[in-house]
Amino acid sequence: MRENAPSEAAVTVRGTTRIAAVWGWPVRHSFSPPMHNAAFRHLGMDWCYVPFEVSPEALPDAVRAVRALGIVGVNATIPHKEALVGLVDEVDPEALAVGAVNTIHNDGGVLRGYSTDGEGFLGALRDEGADPAGKRVVVLGAGGSARSVVVSLARAGASAITIANRTLSRAEVLAELGNEWGCKTTRGVSLDAGGLRECIREAEILVNATSVGMHPRADAPLLVPEDGLHPNLFVYDLIYNPPVTRLMAAAQRRGARAANGLRMLVLQGAASFRIWTGQQPPVAVMERALRQALSQP
Ligand code: NAP
Repeated sequence: MRENAPSEAAVTVRGTTRIAAVWGWPVRHSFSPPMHNAAFRHLGMDWCYVPFEVSPEALPDAVRAVRALGIVGVNATIPHKEALVGLVDEVDPEALAVGAVNTIHNDGGVLRGYSTDGEGFLGALRDEGADPAGKRVVVLGAGGSARSVVVSLARAGASAITIANRTLSRAEVLAELGNEWGCKTTRGVSLDAGGLRECIREAEILVNATSVGMHPRADAPLLVPEDGLHPNLFVYDLIYNPPVTRLMAAAQRRGARAANGLRMLVLQGAASFRIWTGQQPPVAVMERALRQALSQP
């Protein structure tokens, strides 16, 4: 009989097992359970990570249940991240700025909220050799993940950030946040602004933080003029399904390097793992389990 690979082996739940969870509505699409359970098994930890489908109306009850049931850690996904800011006991400053909590740590009955997307995003850029310090960056989108992206770019010392969004007012509000977090040359423009092509030509990093190009709408039109893409550009697409988005393919045609959001997903999960357990996360194991779950070898 074939021996199970570590990420496929069953979790043994005992009376002593500590619980971490992911909440979403829906949650069945989440790839976090195989990723975290592989990490627990790899380190021989008596922990288990389970999904809960939590409706928006049930969210306050779910938060109370964390204390009542002694759940140690929670990840939150759509649509709960924003509402959790007002439901936990303490909110980390970055999560407060971003306006979203994706990680709760039950620290002896005190529920602390964090946002680990920014750490995941920056780690992924750095792993690709694209540290944003001193770089000009264009960010497409001004939604939840764009907020994490912009705050972390500003903190990491990007020299200029241009936020291009379909809804200009959201880009402008987010630009103010970038300025507050230390990048004084953050500005918001409309996606169809005439100057966007030039902006991208002058940039070293382009980030897609919109949902455009995500499965099942992978053939959605490009949001930027293809002839603005150039060989000195690094394109980071937060989307990880499909593995090569239309934007990434266009960037590669124009000689630019490009990567998808899978590494960010791994690293934001790894950051949550560290917060809950106090242990170094086995990042390679987590990435392997996630790739298996996504069928992306
Ligand atoms: P969100 O808050 O709903 O924001 C969506 C953004 O996309 C907004 O800026 C929106 O513009 C823009 N948009 C949507 N449809 C558009 C269209 N047809 N044309 C132009 N712009 C459009 O979503 P989110 O949570 O930030 O997620 C965005 C993407 O990031 C998703 O694909 C998500 O899977 C991915 N993500 C990846 C990771 C990771 O770890 N890799 C983490 C978080 C999110 P308006 O403001 O004009 O509506």
